Amino acid sequence: MRERLVVVGNGMAAHRLLERLHARAPGRWAITVLGAEPRANYNRILLSAVLAGEKSADAIMESDAAWFAERGIAFHASCRVARIDRDRRVVIDADGIETPYDRLVLATGSDPILLPLPGANLPGVLTFRDLADVDRLLAASRTARRAVVIGGGLLGLEAAFGLRRRGLEVTVVHLMGHLMERQLDADASTYLRHALERLGIAFALSANTAAIEGDAHVSGVRLRDGPTLPADLVVMAVGVRPNAALAREAGLAVGRGVIVDDTLATSDPAIVALGECAEHRGQTYGLVAPAWEQAAILARHLAGEPARYPGSIVGTNLKVAGVSVFSAGVIEAAAGDDDLLYVDPADALYRRVILRDDKIVGAILVGDSSDGGWLFDLMREGRPVGALREAVALGRDLARAAA
Ligand SMILES: Cc1cc2nc3c(=O)[nH]c(=O)nc-3n(C[C@H](O)[C@H](O)[C@H](O)COP(=O)(O)OP(=O)(O)OC[C@H]3O[C@@H](n4cnc5c(N)ncnc54)[C@H](O)[C@@H]3O)c2cc1C
Repeated sequence: MRERLVVVGNGMAAHRLLERLHARAPGRWAITVLGAEPRANYNRILLSAVLAGEKSADAIMESDAAWFAERGIAFHASCRVARIDRDRRVVIDADGIETPYDRLVLATGSDPILLPLPGANLPGVLTFRDLADVDRLLAASRTARRAVVIGGGLLGLEAAFGLRRRGLEVTVVHLMGHLMERQLDADASTYLRHALERLGIAFALSANTAAIEGDAHVSGVRLRDGPTLPADLVVMAVGVRPNAALAREAGLAVGRGVIVDDTLATSDPAIVALGECAEHRGQTYGLVAPAWEQAAILARHLAGEPARYPGSIVGTNLKVAGVSVFSAGVIEAAAGDDDLLYVDPADALYRRVILRDDKIVGAILVGDSSDGGWLFDLMREGRPVGALREAVALGRDLARAAA
């Protein structure tokens, strides 16, 4: 009899794992997928496009019942796993139904962080993580006029952009002095902010939220040392927390996420984890590329091939509100670094590449990120820049034109 592989979670990491495993070793495992959401997998990254009205929910689906049937995979939607019984090797869902496993995959992603503010539970305070959230945001945006987005990271800005496109007045409240501070330096962030301001989005930076106000429904966001911003819709986008509760309650080693080794095994060899719920060498990731790299390694492993995951070097290639942004590696130069800066205010281009011992250790591009992949490869390979210096500094197109 085939061994039973049970996958908990049906998001982007699980989907990539199933694709890869099917390509390498079709039918090797008897696979069951248990997903909490009421539908099959979709491209979560494109939720922003659905919110902004650029795509329909149907257009971002990546699998359906037929997809699973063709691969001989049993799939249960609306099935939230509540508990793992490691002694009996079964998972138990919220209805008490048990599913036995020989190998268990945890791919439960992350949950949005909810700031424990007064008023945080008021109707009209929403998050932005899945299609149900987008449905709620769209329903609210039909009657709301003013929205406040708490959080000026990628997710907050995408929510702000989407709501603005839906015609709302939008203010982004951000604790830090500049937006996307983990990916952008202060100048690059200013470029991005100006682009967003041109779209009509307002910002309150270095602003701490004291409370969410309202009686039966949210009516505003009160800032510490500042005014109350009127709002009939509030989006909390202050970050995510790896969804590790199942593992923690089952007694697995958990830090910020479910701790895994280089084979993606947890502290119980019968259980593996990947994607945003996993913590590898002290690192959790909030982007899809590491989840996909982990999926490729885990698929090989489950196909019986040796494979080890060394960790991911992360590059972020995004389009925020129509502005291309790329960021990888360090965002500030250290003493002795070679800091290559190219700014073209007329074309709203910002480009900064930081070299250390002639190798790229960081890059930020705003406005035109077409060189992002190339710079990222150079950085990842640790290749000396040498004669490519001009192209690295100015961009390949400009360097070619100047030659
Ligand atoms: C709006 C938005 C925009 C984004 N944009 C980008 C981007 O531009 N670039 C980028 O790299 N990344 C982006 N991300 C992040 C990217 O979507 C995630 O990194 C990726 O989805 C992680 O995959 P995952 O499978 O680990 O988690 P998820 O895709 O979140 O999947 C986890 C799944 O597990 C389910 N689940 C949780 N607990 C249980 C349980 N107990 N039982 C059963 N099922 C459970 C969840 O319901 C969910 O469906 C974005 C995310 C959002 C929300």
